[in-house]
Parts: sequence; structure tokens; C-alpha cells
Amino acid sequence: MAKVLRNEVATKAKTVLLLEAGASAASWADRVDIIEAAQLSTDDNSSLLENYGAVLLDAARPSFVALARHVHQQDPNIQVIAVTTPELLGATRQSLLYAPGLGEVWLASPTDVGAALTERAAGVTRQRRQYHRTRSRMELANTTVSPQRTERAMISDAYLAGLLRVLPHPVFSVDGIGRLLSANVAAETLFDRPNRQLVGSRLTEALGIVNQSDDVRLLESAAGEAPAMVKFHRPGANYLRVGELRAARMKEGGNAVWAVLLRDLTNEQETYRAVANAIPTLAWTARPDGFIDWYNRQWYDYTGTTPADMEGWGWQSVHHPEVLPLVLERWNASIGSGKRFEMTFPLRGANGKFRAFLTRVVPVHDENGNITRWVGTNTDVEAHRVSRRRVERLQALAEALAVTQTLEDAADAVVARGLQAAGADTTLIALREPESGAVRILQHAGFPKDLADKYQTIDPTHETPLGLAMTSGQPVFLEERHGADGFFTRYPAFVPVWERMGTHAVAALPLLAAGDVVGGMSFSFREPRSFADEERDFFLSIARQSAQAIERARLFTAERDARQHADEANRAKSQFLATMSHELRTPLNAISGHVSLVLEEIHGPVTEEQRGALTRVMLAQEHLLGLINDVLSFARLEGGRVEYHVEPIDVTEVISSVHPLVEPQMTAKGISLVVNTPAEPHAVMVCADRDKLAQILINLLSNATKFTDTGGTVTVGLQTSPGHNNRRHAVINVDDTGIGIPPDKLDSIFDPFVQVRPELTRTRDGTGLGLAISRDLARGMGGDLHVESEVGKGSSFTVRLPLA
Ligand code: ADP
Repeated sequence: MAKVLRNEVATKAKTVLLLEAGASAASWADRVDIIEAAQLSTDDNSSLLENYGAVLLDAARPSFVALARHVHQQDPNIQVIAVTTPELLGATRQSLLYAPGLGEVWLASPTDVGAALTERAAGVTRQRRQYHRTRSRMELANTTVSPQRTERAMISDAYLAGLLRVLPHPVFSVDGIGRLLSANVAAETLFDRPNRQLVGSRLTEALGIVNQSDDVRLLESAAGEAPAMVKFHRPGANYLRVGELRAARMKEGGNAVWAVLLRDLTNEQETYRAVANAIPTLAWTARPDGFIDWYNRQWYDYTGTTPADMEGWGWQSVHHPEVLPLVLERWNASIGSGKRFEMTFPLRGANGKFRAFLTRVVPVHDENGNITRWVGTNTDVEAHRVSRRRVERLQALAEALAVTQTLEDAADAVVARGLQAAGADTTLIALREPESGAVRILQHAGFPKDLADKYQTIDPTHETPLGLAMTSGQPVFLEERHGADGFFTRYPAFVPVWERMGTHAVAALPLLAAGDVVGGMSFSFREPRSFADEERDFFLSIARQSAQAIERARLFTAERDARQHADEANRAKSQFLATMSHELRTPLNAISGHVSLVLEEIHGPVTEEQRGALTRVMLAQEHLLGLINDVLSFARLEGGRVEYHVEPIDVTEVISSVHPLVEPQMTAKGISLVVNTPAEPHAVMVCADRDKLAQILINLLSNATKFTDTGGTVTVGLQTSPGHNNRRHAVINVDDTGIGIPPDKLDSIFDPFVQVRPELTRTRDGTGLGLAISRDLARGMGGDLHVESEVGKGSSFTVRLPLA
């Protein structure tokens, strides 16, 4: 419709004089045959112009450049004539020169304005229309030469030409069916071909575009809001370049003409891609709508796919079908919200196995905050996950083993948990018996019963993986069945068993305790597998933990047996001592009874010699009875058959009461006794059994007397002091200036029957039970007994008892 109209206009050759409001052009306006006058602003639609062949503009008006551009954009066939005075000619030329998009503008002085000028304009317009209609039939290469143009000032074209020359990006004009009409210098440089070789061929062909072959569709998409991404091939280059294509549709006669700009992104992208290809991570980029348009080399290497498999949404094929819905849901949510995406999911490798990848996708924004791309990375976290799982399994194993005590418990736990931790199908654990050296299978799992029954022991010298591990102390890992080094070849005797079990891999490990091989453990796997270094370490850790648990169980069992044994022996001894003392006391009492009767001359007079002898019999009897009483009370203490009558008692009073019992011996030996107890009314009251405390004190005082030479001093002291648990204690000291006790004996003198120098004590009496009894008694009353001593200087015994 518009075309028809225009043709009519051309023949009518109408001219319109456009006046701006309040124009001062009246001086020249009346010379023109004004068919129509109108006020035109840049907002007016094109319908007005479509009817006319030329327009006159007053160049004195500040807005004339904008009007000229408006007219040209509405219809490039209308000739714009700028009317200007000689004074303004230079300035008008200047403003036209620097204002692109005006098309041809004629300059005319008011004196030129008239029918001749407007008619000529109308004639040129007609010719131009004619030219445009015929041009498509002309040699395209010649279109740039137009005879009519030479005579006219093509000021804005010159400006555009200059601009095109300096623009660093290739710029083309393309006709409606996609053929190149012109190319700028940057295009010639990039494609290394002169303009005339480029011009005339199809856009996709000339540029070597590989991802689009339909020129018009490419132009249309490049004219959209976002540029079209193109991959193209420069002649002679051995790799693809990438760029973005932008197109603007212009009217040129009745045909569409496109202005096209190519931005070569290859170098920019190459840098990023080189980086992306150099990193170990899988990486890719996607369009704002999530369509993935590029993957790095690692992606293809890992997945074993091709770009054609992967383009767009093809990545779904390497996802786990069970996880994919969630991945899609979350990825779509990110695309919708523009928020970054992070998730760990499995991706299938070229070998068909899945590994876990931590995936992060971040949006890239333009200056307006719109997403231009998504950049994604997938980092292999499988190793990390596996090692974390291994640590967890080892921990579970350690925890299970920590609570086992007996060898059987330990073996059960090792087998059950070890099987689980190792992910194996069978396991067995064998121990070397310390005495015979035979290797006995302690526990096993995963074997059919008949096999398990058949193999109860192992001969470590036989050629078996476990035997080898045990003799060498080194782990044995078997990954290959056949071949020179295959385990079927190396251990032919076991082939039937392995065949039956379907075994494809074996790990045999020595169990080491303190560097000695105490046993071995083995795992077998039905799945073919290999043992990576960190897996070997993992198996060694399992073996180490198992060995420790077994060793601990052995020690525990041995200790428990020994303790039981000792307890029994002790009980028997105490029983024996109690019985014996009791049996001995009866005849001893009979001896003293009868000797007393004789001494009291019941059976007749006794001579002095006889009395002396009888007195010595009495002393010996008393001593023997003392010994037997000691033994008996110790045996009772040991047997836990002593009763305490604990009550608040005054310590000073107890000390005074034992005083007369020990004084005679001291006096006889020339030893002085000093008692330092707090004076009344500061009585020190303790919770104790009065008789037992007296027994302790007598014992300590007699020891002090026994082991102190003539002229020495024995001092009894009494204080109070804070004891354990903040409970205050009474502290009773029995110090002497005697022979002292060697440091290495300070502990053992409290053990029963221990005497520092038995030959010495034999001359000084004693059984070596006094201190053992005393300490047991002190402890039995919630206190304790300690000693400090220095050989040659003296000893200091301290009794502590809780205050009442
Ligand atoms: P006994 O005095 O009957 O031998 P005890 O159990 O009372 O048995 O003492 C054990 C040993 O401790 C003594 O044989 C002696 O060697 C040493 N002993 C005990 N008291 C003293 C002391 N006050 N000075 C030096 N040695 C002592």
C-alpha cells in the first residue's frame, strides 16, 4: 500500500514547504509554489510526508537537524533541502557534517528557492525511486557508484563513511535476502579479504558462520533485543571463533536493508576458556534461560560425551535418574529467581560410574543488573566424600572395638564391623597361638558353612595370600584373577574356593602387635576392584585397630585370669592362717595356764631356778601368742572379718592410755618419750574405734622403740589439718631418732611379712605384719597411715583420722 502511494507521489512530484511555528523564512517562502504547508514536529507520523517529494527546511532554526533526520527516517526518498543565508552557510555545513543519519541534504540559499529548485528535487526523487527499483537487478558491486551522487553534497554519508572506517568492529550492509552489500575496513582486516571479495556473497558464507545457515533468520534474531551468538571460521584458521552479531533493519527503497555489526569475542573468550580448560574442575556457561552453550574440556573428558550430546539441556543424560528431578527443580528455581545455585549431586563418568560433584552456578549481570549468562562449575567431591565415609566407618569400628573385653567379643566385633567398614563380601580373622605357633581361625563371616568348617586352621607357610601377609608382615592386595601376576595363577590351590565364592579381589593383612605378627585378617570382594593408595591405607587402619582390640582383649583376659588366680590363692592363705592361729592359741593358752599353776605352787613348792625357767617359758609363750594374734588379726583383716565400733573419741586420752604399755620397754632401752598433745580444753576428737587406734599406736611406738638405739628419743605429736574433700583430720605423729628406712622400702614395709632387714628383726622380734595391720585398720576407719624416713636419722609415721 505504502509502495503504491509512493509511486504516485513520485509522478505528481509535489513539493511541500515545511515551516516551523513563527518561522522567519517568509522572505523566500513566497517564491515557492506551495502546494501544502504544514507545521511539522518530530513527533508527527509519516503519513504527511509520504505524499510529498521534497521538503524545504529553514536552516536558521535550531531544530532543523532533528527535523531533517526525522524526514529522512520517515522516507529516505524525500529530498531534504536546507535553506540557509550566505552568512550561515559555514555553520550549516558544519552541523550537517557531524550529524549522521540525515541522508542527502541539499544546501540552498533563499535566492535559489523557487520552482526550478523544487522541481529539480522532485525530479531527483523520481530518479532515485527508479534507481532503487532497478538496483536489485544491477551488479551489486556497482551499487556504490551512483552518477547522481557526485554532483551533490553527501555530507552525512561522508561522516558515516569516516565512522565506519574507524570503527574497530566489522560492519556490513546486507540486502533483504542476506547478501553482503558492503563491508568496512575492520571486516576486511578480520576476514583478510578485500571488500569486493566479500561483497555479493551470502552473510553466513562470507563470515564462515557454522552455527546458522539461514541468513534471514540469523539477521532477524540479531535484530532482537539480545545479539545473536555466532561461531565462525576465518579462512585459513584452524579453530572456530565466536562473536555476537547485531543487526538493524533499514528501509532502502522497497527492499529491506540491514546494517550488521559483528563483535568478535574470540580473544576475550579464549582467555576465559583457556583458564576454564586449565582448571581441574568441570565448567560450563549457559544463556540466561539456562540453555547450556559451552562446556570446558574436562566436562567432555569426564563424561565421555560430545558437544552435540550436551547442547542445551542434553546434560540430563549424565545425571542419576533418581536425583535428576530435584536437580531440575532447583536449577529451574534458580533460573526463575536469578539466584545462585549450589548442590551436590552425582554425575556419570565415561566409565559408567557415578561420582559426587559439588555444583555451583553464578549469574553474570550486565550494567543494568540483567543476567547475561550463567557460569557453572562441577567439582569432584567423591574422594572427599569417600574419605569422610571411611573415617566414619573407622570411627564406628573403633567405638565397637573399644567396648569389647574378651577375645571372642573382639573377634566378633572385628569381623562384623570390619566387613561393614571394608564393604567386603567375606572376612576372616586368624590368630597365631603363642605356644604352638599354629594359626587358628578365630572368627569369619560370609563363608558357606562347609567351607568354614573345612578351614579351621591355616598353615602360614602354605602359599596363600593370608599366609604371605603373615610371614612377610606386609599387606597383600589382589586385583587381577588371571595373567602372570593374577591370583588364580599364583595360588592355584585356592582357585576352586574363589571360583565358588565369585571372588574378584582380595585384601590380606597382617595383624601386628608391638611389631610382631600376631595374626592376620583377610577380606574378599565379589565385585572386581582395585585398591588405590588411600584405600590400602584404610585397610591397614582396619587391621591396626583390629590388632589392637585383639591384643587388648588378650591382655585383659590374661590379667583377669591372673587376678582370679591370685584372689583364690589369697583366700586360701588367709583361711589357712586363721585356722592355724586358732589351733595354735588353744595349746598356748594351756601352756600359760599350767605354768601359772606351777608358779603359784599349786602343785608344790618351786625353787628359784625353776621359777626363773618357768618365767622364761611364760615370756616365750607370751611372745608366741603375740605373734599368733598378729597373724590372726591380719588374716581376719584380709578376710574382711573385722568389725569397727566407730565413735567420737578423745585422741589425747588414747595416747595417755597406751603410754604405760610402752614406757617400760623404752625406759629399759634408755629411750626418752616426748608427748606433744594440745593442752586442755583443746581435746581432739576423732571418729574411730578406740581399741583399734590404741592397737595402731602401740604398734608404731613399739616399732619406734625396736628400731631406735639407746639414748634416742620417740616423740608423739597431735595436730589437726584439712584433709581430703575438705574434711578436717586429726594427724598423729610417731617420730623416732632411730635407724630409718631406705627409700626403696618405704612402700613395701606396709606389705604383709615385709621386714627391711630380717636378720635384724629376728633379734628384735616381729612378724612383718604390724604395719600392714596398722594401715588396714587406719584405712578401715576412714583414715590412713604414711611414713617418711631417712636412713640413720629416724622415721616419722603419720596416722590420719577423720575428726568427729
Ligand atoms: P615388724 O616390726 O614385726 O617386723 P612391721 O610391719 O611392724 O613388722 O614393720 C615392718 C618393717 O618395717 C620392720 O621389720 C622394719 O624393717 C621396718 N620398720 C618399721 N618401723 C620402723 C621404724 N620406726 N624405724 C625403722 N624401721 C622400721
